[in-house]
Amino acid sequence: MEPQIQAAENTEKEVVSRHFIEQEIDKDLREGVYDHVHTRFPPEPNGYLHIGHAKSILLNYGLAQEYGGKFNMRFDDTNPTKEKTEFVESILEDIKWLGADWEDRLFFASDYFGQMYEKAVLLVKKGKAYVSDLSAEQIREYRGTLTEPGKDDPGRERSIEENLELFEKMKNGEFEDGSKVLRARIDMASPNINMRDPVIYRVAHMTHHNTGDTWCIYPMYDFAHPIEDAIEGITHSICTLEFEDHRPLYDWVVKECEFENPPRQIEFAKLYLTNVVTGKRYIKKLVEDGIVDGWDDPRLVSIAALRRRGFTPESIRRFIELCGVSKANASADYAMLEYCLREDLKLKKKRLMAVLDPIKLVIDNYPEDQVEELEAADNLENPEMGSHIVPFMKELYIEREDFMEEPPKKYYRLFPGNEVRLMHAYFVKCTGFEKDENGKVTVVHCTYDPATKAGSGFSERKVKGTIHWVPAKGCVEATARLYENLVDEEKGVYNKEDGSLNLNPDSLKVCEKVYIEPAVGGAKPYDSFQFVRNGFYCVDYKDTTDERLVFNRIVSLKSSFKLPK
Ligand code: ATP
Ligand code: MG
Repeated sequence: MEPQIQAAENTEKEVVSRHFIEQEIDKDLREGVYDHVHTRFPPEPNGYLHIGHAKSILLNYGLAQEYGGKFNMRFDDTNPTKEKTEFVESILEDIKWLGADWEDRLFFASDYFGQMYEKAVLLVKKGKAYVSDLSAEQIREYRGTLTEPGKDDPGRERSIEENLELFEKMKNGEFEDGSKVLRARIDMASPNINMRDPVIYRVAHMTHHNTGDTWCIYPMYDFAHPIEDAIEGITHSICTLEFEDHRPLYDWVVKECEFENPPRQIEFAKLYLTNVVTGKRYIKKLVEDGIVDGWDDPRLVSIAALRRRGFTPESIRRFIELCGVSKANASADYAMLEYCLREDLKLKKKRLMAVLDPIKLVIDNYPEDQVEELEAADNLENPEMGSHIVPFMKELYIEREDFMEEPPKKYYRLFPGNEVRLMHAYFVKCTGFEKDENGKVTVVHCTYDPATKAGSGFSERKVKGTIHWVPAKGCVEATARLYENLVDEEKGVYNKEDGSLNLNPDSLKVCEKVYIEPAVGGAKPYDSFQFVRNGFYCVDYKDTTDERLVFNRIVSLKSSFKLPK
């Protein structure tokens, strides 16, 4: 099976044309701009990674692989206000799980603070940077607008000597936060506002998660990032579209800081998904308001949440591949992600019978103490997976919805007088039922026909319905959580009036008493199964205990999604 799938994928890849970044890299290699490829993934450790980041990770790692180059994992930890070590750990775990391998190439931007400081001093010495006394607000005012040029900062007139002295004092902690900044001297009349003397260093008396209290000045992103890339010998600095207008500044920094072999920035469009919440700000609020169970709540699309829910790295990689790489912003359909997931799970996962909303079925003509060991294929589409045993007995559980006292037309499951097949077992015919004082059906009675055993070749009559079941004795009781979209699909993710989220009140349904056939025994966190007719389920790592399995529904079985041609 395996080699066949691979062959199919290869041919597909050959047909698909190369995306624009590959074309740019091909050109750079052809023209000798670079003789190798070196990429990086540079997250800020200020939150968990989400599906959008997966695109960036797989793109950068994939390009390094494709061109036989190198891939760096680098934390862009230049802003001590928001960063935490907790996030460093979770980000590394997520990237490893996705299958990107940085080998021994793990770096921290904060390790370059010394070199960044030296480069800033170099700029001051060249007359390319100066110390400013303006407040943040004044800097904004002086900056001008898209239609008006900016006004010169009085600091622009300072001598190189004075700037050197003041910058050193900034470093030595002689100034209050916000009282001084270092600005690049570029062009206050530039049509690109990013080039109007951007701030490159600020004073911030803050403890950094890596460098502690060594520094009280910190570099700004637009200054730090190109230097990080250049120090590491990155050739292609791939980032998202919002940095396009920053590219002239990126190029200015690597040039004026006199790096040989400067890296080249290339921008692509972010991955957006329909009907999901990706904004860190929104997720943080959902977590704080207790609407979701932490950053890895299975309804979120953080990598940790997808892993917890039971997504596979293969399905995410396939999805990202299908999304493609482009410069045009577009949203991918969440259903396509689910499609990739089903395609991946359906051949890999064991199929078991589980009853989510149980009702007892008694086979009145079945011998009291008899137990038959029936064989059930682990996966009909992948016979190599083998089979397992399901014990069959007089008392079973079936889904409550598989019985109806008064069935509508075209209902082929159990109702008085009707015969169905019990999966892997026999035909049974409903003979009656019992109700409690509230009129709720508690037990369904039936008789079985011994001649109809599955695999016996019985063909004298046919039944229209097949239902699943579990044995009443020996089945495993568990909890199952059924998830729907966190947001209301009809209304859209964000409320037009106040920007709040349109939440779906039914995004979580808990089935407290689920019965699963005995073969589920021994399941461990992250193990996943197909529950016949019900969907794919994964053992929750957080809430499962030694006594009780808790399952998350990964995805239902049905889909209306069609892969675009
Ligand atoms: P913030 O703006 O809060 O920093 P961020 O999502 O940009 O959030 P980073 O840690 O800076 O967080 O992102 C790391 C890398 O991932 C960046 O290169 C960024 O461009 C890329 N990235 C972020 N979101 C997406 C997305 N939706 N699709 C593709 N790449 C993304
Ligand atoms: Mg960012």
